[in-house]
Amino acid sequence: MEKEYDVVIIGASNAGGFAAAAAAEKGAKVLMIDKMKSAGYLYRDTIASIGSKAQRKAGVEIDKQELINFLTEFAQDNVDQRLLNTWVDNSAETIDWLDEKILRPHGAHIQATPDAYYESAMNRSFPTGNEVTNSDGTYWESGYGNWVLDEIKKLGAELRWQTKLQSLVVIDGKVVGVKVEDLPTKRSYKISAKNVIICTGGYGSNLALMQKWNPMGLKTNVYSDSMRDDGSGIVAGLKAGAAKDEEAASIVFNRAAVPVGANARDMYEIDMTPPDDPAYLWFGSYPFLRVNLEGERFYNESSPYQFAMHAAARQTGYMQAMIWNEDVMDDEHLKAVHTLGCSRLGFPGIWTAEEGREQIAGLIKENLVQKADSIEELADKLNLPVATLIKTVSRYNDLCHKGKDEDFGKEAYRMLAIDQGPYYGAFMSGRLLATLDGLRINTKMQVLRENGEVIPGLYAAGNCSGGFFWGAYPDHVPGLTASHAQTFGRLAGKFAATASQD
Ligand SMILES: Cc1cc2nc3c(=O)[nH]c(=O)nc-3n(C[C@H](O)[C@H](O)[C@H](O)COP(=O)(O)OP(=O)(O)OC[C@H]3O[C@@H](n4cnc5c(N)ncnc54)[C@H](O)[C@@H]3O)c2cc1C
Repeated sequence: MEKEYDVVIIGASNAGGFAAAAAAEKGAKVLMIDKMKSAGYLYRDTIASIGSKAQRKAGVEIDKQELINFLTEFAQDNVDQRLLNTWVDNSAETIDWLDEKILRPHGAHIQATPDAYYESAMNRSFPTGNEVTNSDGTYWESGYGNWVLDEIKKLGAELRWQTKLQSLVVIDGKVVGVKVEDLPTKRSYKISAKNVIICTGGYGSNLALMQKWNPMGLKTNVYSDSMRDDGSGIVAGLKAGAAKDEEAASIVFNRAAVPVGANARDMYEIDMTPPDDPAYLWFGSYPFLRVNLEGERFYNESSPYQFAMHAAARQTGYMQAMIWNEDVMDDEHLKAVHTLGCSRLGFPGIWTAEEGREQIAGLIKENLVQKADSIEELADKLNLPVATLIKTVSRYNDLCHKGKDEDFGKEAYRMLAIDQGPYYGAFMSGRLLATLDGLRINTKMQVLRENGEVIPGLYAAGNCSGGFFWGAYPDHVPGLTASHAQTFGRLAGKFAATASQD
């Protein structure tokens, strides 16, 4: 076995990076490995917290208990509330660390996003978002993940890329190291560790595991946006005796444009290399009219992202089409229908409405968005029944003008009429960003066996760990997955480092 480390961390993304920094800050001898050549771009820009310095400065106040109750209700109690409490109590410290230690030395900073305005119970929301803000005041894409990785090296930790965890080395029920493969040379070797932290993300790109653990996810999504997530860390934990969440959880965007005639049940594409992910239709997260393949409206489109796929799962081909017009794509309308977190166009979203329209122009060229001068022509291009679509749009417009959605109860201010052309339409489905069910852990991030016993020497954090989400992702608590990974990563690093010194 190779020389002993206090803490070996598997995976160098949100959970792993924050774990490595925290363990190294505590003086532990740390090694972090990742199977890929880099991970910096995976560090996300909308990150949740309660009570960060930036939030306090912006006057954002969130009632902790109210949020915990909401998250518990959203998951129908299929969570470990002690983990929710742990996140609530530690999220601000994590954001403040990121702000002060990583961003500010590079001229960037955290800015709280106070707005979380919706009117319906289904859209209950909390202003948890913190945005990574560049020195010029723009948002996103600072590449701060690489700054975290640099800081980890400065703190004396070692990083090894293209090194893949194969299995955990277990002696007498205790994890004492890892067996890894150096991918370029295919050489396998063992590394001895007092403690191992698995931070390998989910399993959304492993078809066999998706079939086993999240078959509905396979049917209702058409793209996997996390091509690295092969579930290997979770499987290694299970082989070492760990328990796992028994039901699926995932985060899904409702903004995948797919070719007319596609059937979500039979389509699941994984092989995408960011930043060239195909078919992102940013407007897809806005509450525009959606119809099934029979041309009928079938649900209230104003809901958390993922609900769109749940609704579509009861329709032909697990599919739906979105119908909108030129008028609704301007800043004024988009501001009125407002979304949260990274679905926003306009402040502080990734793009302006203008850039969103440019994206649509590109998708028209790719034949993923159809444009037409009349609803008849649009129905024809979308292969939807013409008479039914005309009737549906007419009924929808009547309700918009009335200011009351008598059919499905969408908030009046989110009912935007589609009165005049040009008209647009696209077949829409889900993009699975990540799976969120994983290994059972306690509030010290220690991995547990089925009988509740701790597996000595083994920790897990981020999307490979469980107990925190169930079913759909509560996207109206913006930034919760990145924060879950970073906050629990940081805690795992501290606990594992301290345990190594015992
Ligand atoms: C396009 C997109 C945008 C997103 N935006 C946001 C956002 O703004 N806010 C938010 O809260 N969430 C966002 N998310 C979700 C967020 O990215 C994830 O929840 C988060 O990355 C989880 O972090 P993680 O460290 O647990 O796992 P991951 O980020 O999945 O990282 C796992 C790491 O482990 C490595 N690895 C895996 N297996 C092995 C192995 N066997 N050996 C060695 N290394 C291994 C991988 O290479 C990878 O680097 C977004 C997701 C996507 C796809």
